[in-house]
Amino acid sequence: MSRVLIIGAGGVGRVVAFKCAEVKDIFTEILLASRTKSKCDVIAKDIHEKYGIDILTAKLNADIVSELVELINDFKPDIVVNVALPYQDLTIMDACLETGVNYLDTANYEPRDEAKFEYKWQWAYQDRFKDAGLTAVLGCGFDPGVTGVFTSYAAKHHFDQIHHLDIVDCNAGDHGKAFATNFNPEINIREVTQKGKYFENKRWIETEPHSVLKSLSYPNIGPKNSYLIYHEELESLVKNFPTLKRARFWMTFGDEYLTHLRVIQNIGMASIKPVIYEGREIVPLQFLKAVLPDPGELGENYVGETSIGCRIWGIKDGVEKTYYVYNNCKHKDAYSDTGAQGVSYTTGVPAMIGAMMVLTGKWSGAGVFNVEEFNPDPFMEELGMHGLPWHELHDVDLEMD
Ligand code: NDP
Repeated sequence: MSRVLIIGAGGVGRVVAFKCAEVKDIFTEILLASRTKSKCDVIAKDIHEKYGIDILTAKLNADIVSELVELINDFKPDIVVNVALPYQDLTIMDACLETGVNYLDTANYEPRDEAKFEYKWQWAYQDRFKDAGLTAVLGCGFDPGVTGVFTSYAAKHHFDQIHHLDIVDCNAGDHGKAFATNFNPEINIREVTQKGKYFENKRWIETEPHSVLKSLSYPNIGPKNSYLIYHEELESLVKNFPTLKRARFWMTFGDEYLTHLRVIQNIGMASIKPVIYEGREIVPLQFLKAVLPDPGELGENYVGETSIGCRIWGIKDGVEKTYYVYNNCKHKDAYSDTGAQGVSYTTGVPAMIGAMMVLTGKWSGAGVFNVEEFNPDPFMEELGMHGLPWHELHDVDLEMD
């Protein structure tokens, strides 16, 4: 019997709440809290219709530690699942320490005024979580999240040493909108407009945004233009798998998406520097978010599928080997299961499973952990059972130089 507090009622929060409700024997009491309570109430109503169970909802400003502490002390959760925005990571971690509760999130902290993805702020909590005997799980969505578990599963079962890792993230879906992002637009645009970066021969190499491109072929989808970008799990994976000689991340973007992105940047709408508009300060990118489609509402007409996986090259028993492990997720299946599109679904399902791992003691330890530091096997067992079946290919052409 465990109680879970889910913070954030966007597309991902909806999926986490649905999936926790699906596993009633573990998540016996669920509280969904967010800035706008009415969004929590809509999700609670939908969960009641599907499962016949009631979850609690609350209004919460997770930027304020004292509000968090009050709610946590009142509900007494065993774990807090943070699927609000990365800006709230540190205040929620502070509140978990103050109240003695375990913590899990899906995206690393970034300061509001600087688009910079680094674990340093959250890794700095290591001693405090250790001393408190609490577990903090960082980055437990799909990427980061499942990609880290896939990598540790490969290293554990299929390789003596892994040398090259290419994480490949394809969304071959069509939501019918001219331009929309698949998760929070502000966070998404900050992520994809920054410089590319990859790890090779013990150093990081920067590339201009979207300047490195490959056509990669994805299972059940076919070839898609895939661009080298920087993604946060690369930082922890090269640290936790020191045999890695190269680690890169590739994401597909359609031409239309990139054209819109270029225009948005050229006209200054991707800027995070405040400007004065009619006497008040606004951040252009935050204003843009207000007029773009809500990613949580793209699901209904979304067709096609995602395919995310790890392509790994290394050594087993003295022989070179390649391995590709991946999941494909159809947007329509995600929608019919939870009312959310595939990107929210592929993030929310692993977050629920991560919380389940902590609550059942399959992932344990005091401190701050990235997912690849835990045993991948029980997590991999649950993935397929909760809507994200995975597949593996051995000794295939990885299409990588
Ligand atoms: P949304 O913007 O749809 O939802 C975010 C939710 O958090 C909203 O309900 C929002 O409230 C709430 N929120 C924002 N600020 C606060 C605050 N101060 N206090 C309380 N609640 C707040 O985002 P998504 O659901 O698309 O994404 C959620 C998280 O998942 C993000 O951190 C994102 O980076 C991460 N993610 C991770 C992925 C992975 O694979 N690892 C992939 C995709 C996303 P309101 O409704 O009032 O705005």
